[in-house]
Amino acid sequence: MRLDDNVSLVDCNTLRLPARARYFGRIASLDDLREGLSFCNLRSLPLLILGGGSNVVLRERFEGCVLRMEMQGEELLQLTDEYVDIRVAAGLDWHALVLSCHAGGWHGLENLALIPGTVGAAPIQNIGAYGVEVREFIRAVKVLDRRSGESFDIANAECGFAYRQSRFQRERSLIITAVSLRLPLNPTPNTAYAALREELSNIAVPTHADVLRAVIAIRRRKLPDPAQLPNAGSFFKNPVIDAARFAELKQRFPAIVHWPQGEGVKLAAAWLVDQCGWRGKREGDAGVHEHQVLVLVNHGSARAEDLLRLAARIAESVRDYFGVELEIEPQIF
Ligand code: FAD
Ligand code: NAP
Repeated sequence: MRLDDNVSLVDCNTLRLPARARYFGRIASLDDLREGLSFCNLRSLPLLILGGGSNVVLRERFEGCVLRMEMQGEELLQLTDEYVDIRVAAGLDWHALVLSCHAGGWHGLENLALIPGTVGAAPIQNIGAYGVEVREFIRAVKVLDRRSGESFDIANAECGFAYRQSRFQRERSLIITAVSLRLPLNPTPNTAYAALREELSNIAVPTHADVLRAVIAIRRRKLPDPAQLPNAGSFFKNPVIDAARFAELKQRFPAIVHWPQGEGVKLAAAWLVDQCGWRGKREGDAGVHEHQVLVLVNHGSARAEDLLRLAARIAESVRDYFGVELEIEPQIF
């Protein structure tokens, strides 16, 4: 495996931030990964594992080693009358996996179509969209522990999955090398999400193919394509607050957009930001997208600091007006 020094990361992050890495290597196998890790460990270098770079904000320089996960491969573990078990390498493109499973008649992932990034990053924040979360399909996550050098499976119940959360966000020494999924062969298409129901309203009994087409159509309409307008998807998570706090807010703001979330209440961060007047606003080359206010975009030469300054100002206005804290979703390095 080759490690280059002083490498530009501009093509490795969907915000196209002009960051550089002191060292950079592409990981195509477990051996590559072990080699990269021992290089880092011997020199006590900070490590950044990168997938598609669609959920990161990269500062000007990473004074360590960036390893980009490019391991490919898909393995059929078990096929029964009811489900299929597959193991997929971390470097595979997530959307390509959704399409290939759908084409093979293995369903359920259609609601998660067009989410950028790699399979290995999907468990990190338990990716979710249109009423579905990836944890519903994950059987186990294969990791290599940077500290011990050991490789082992972590079962779904041990992954600490919650709404846009997992243990992998906290335990940075765990590097995901593969993900095992169980896909039912005949699930009912999940069309509960309002935007999806609306898109499918002229179809009496939507099929999985209809759901796939609808999700792709809505996303293409509403979300900026990072290849055209660099972005990292939603910059803020939807805040989850307790029922008592919500009751106070609802009294002051009767139109507040919300859904039940476990014991608490999930607020639509987009609604909060919109109410504070940020839609389409721009500060230098850092901007708020016109159609989806949670998406911050790089209009050209924005740097991490510009986006983080804009994000801080948005969060401050939401805090002042609603008394609600917004948390940034992408990881900052
Ligand atoms: P990266 O950005 O490369 O990495 C993200 C984090 O995971 C980093 O901390 C990185 O160190 C870590 N990481 C990556 N790979 C590994 C690995 N193999 N082992 C250990 N750590 C690793 N997210 C959603 O949940 N739902 C959506 O609907 C959605 N829509 C999006 C739409 C757009 C236009 C964009 C740009 C982003 C969207 N996202 C969405 C966010 C993003 O696509 C997901 O979080 C995705 O899983 C990130 O994958 P990645 O490979 O790009 O990860
Ligand atoms: P939307 O349909 O305009 O809805 C706004 C918010 O309301 C979403 O965040 C969603 O929460 C919530 N919501 C809507 N209907 C819901 C329901 N029936 N039950 C519970 N919550 C509901 O959202 P959008 O911005 O166009 O995004 C569509 C989907 O893609 C969402 O699931 C969103 O999470 C996902 N997405 C994620 C990212 C990212 O980077 N994380 C980027 C783009 C889109 P949830 O977010 O919890 O679904």
